[in-house]
Amino acid sequence: MKKTIILLLLCLSLGLPGCAGNPAQAERQLFAMDTVMTLTAWGSGAEEALAEVETLLFSLEDQLSVTRESSLVGRLNQGQTVELTPELTRLLAGTLALSQKTGGALEPCLYPVTKLWGFTTGDYRVPEPAEIQAAQAQVGRLHLDGDTAYLDPGSQLDLGAVGKGWAGSQAAALLQARQDVTGALLNLGGNVQTYGAKPDGSAWTIGIQDPAGEGLAGVLHLTGTWAVVTSGGYERYFTQDGVDYCHIIDPATGYPARSGLASVTVVAEDGLTADGLSTALYVLGLEAALDYWRENRDFQAVFITDAGEIYATAGLELSQCSYHTVED
Ligand code: ADP
Ligand code: MG
Repeated sequence: MKKTIILLLLCLSLGLPGCAGNPAQAERQLFAMDTVMTLTAWGSGAEEALAEVETLLFSLEDQLSVTRESSLVGRLNQGQTVELTPELTRLLAGTLALSQKTGGALEPCLYPVTKLWGFTTGDYRVPEPAEIQAAQAQVGRLHLDGDTAYLDPGSQLDLGAVGKGWAGSQAAALLQARQDVTGALLNLGGNVQTYGAKPDGSAWTIGIQDPAGEGLAGVLHLTGTWAVVTSGGYERYFTQDGVDYCHIIDPATGYPARSGLASVTVVAEDGLTADGLSTALYVLGLEAALDYWRENRDFQAVFITDAGEIYATAGLELSQCSYHTVED
């Protein structure tokens, strides 16, 4: 009897697999896609699963990086026609579809413009209007013909606005296929992917950063598998002559988006949708974003305005803040 109790206590404290009520927990941190990623998983296969997720994330970075010449994006940007895996075909087709649905607010070929502002190199500067005009003229189209992709001559692709959300969904699919992970919380540099359930069955609590300060603006409560992606001007910006310039560019003007929104958090089943929309809705601003929500309904969202007002679509539950619920 005594032995059993000691063994049980040992199991509980070490978090060993197979001990009822206390599934094994694994954690891993890595730097990929230009950001720190923190992965946590529970279940008998948690340790091995997170090693696989890490390998997956590095291989996706290899494919999607805009600064690696050998990546899918690098090869397209050199003018090559590229044969795609079914997976990458889905990524590019999905990105093009979102671009079209958002009226071009998400523009995957915006790289000539974003590069000009220095957001990919860290070499920040405010370009001359003529330079912006010239860069905008360089924004062409990505073409998909079955599983073959190519760009208009001189065009350049940048999947920075969708890559991490896509990666989160791919990771969740990997966990699902293994069947020995009961839950996971994957924080890909602020882009969060939940999977399954927490060991104690309670909801995932996901903080939304206060765009104007250090703390949280509110906390989201979700159960199950979700992509939760935030785009905000505060995430990456530079200041010149007292003006802030953020890394999300309005393709219509070639200048950093100033729509009155400080951040947009999108919750969707699909990470590509969540990431692509968080960027696009930030560009569109509150009114147009809510119109988009009413027409599409395949996501929920939290909007924080420059004035600090919080708006959440009707399907979400927030705590630790006061907010307006957006109904039909
Ligand atoms: P994060 O940097 O957190 O991933 P986003 O998902 O909003 O934030 O993506 C912003 C990145 O996408 C920028 O750094 C830039 O590379 C690219 N980008 C900026 N504006 C647009 C846009 N309107 N459409 C598509 N990509 C954009
Ligand atoms: Mg995005």
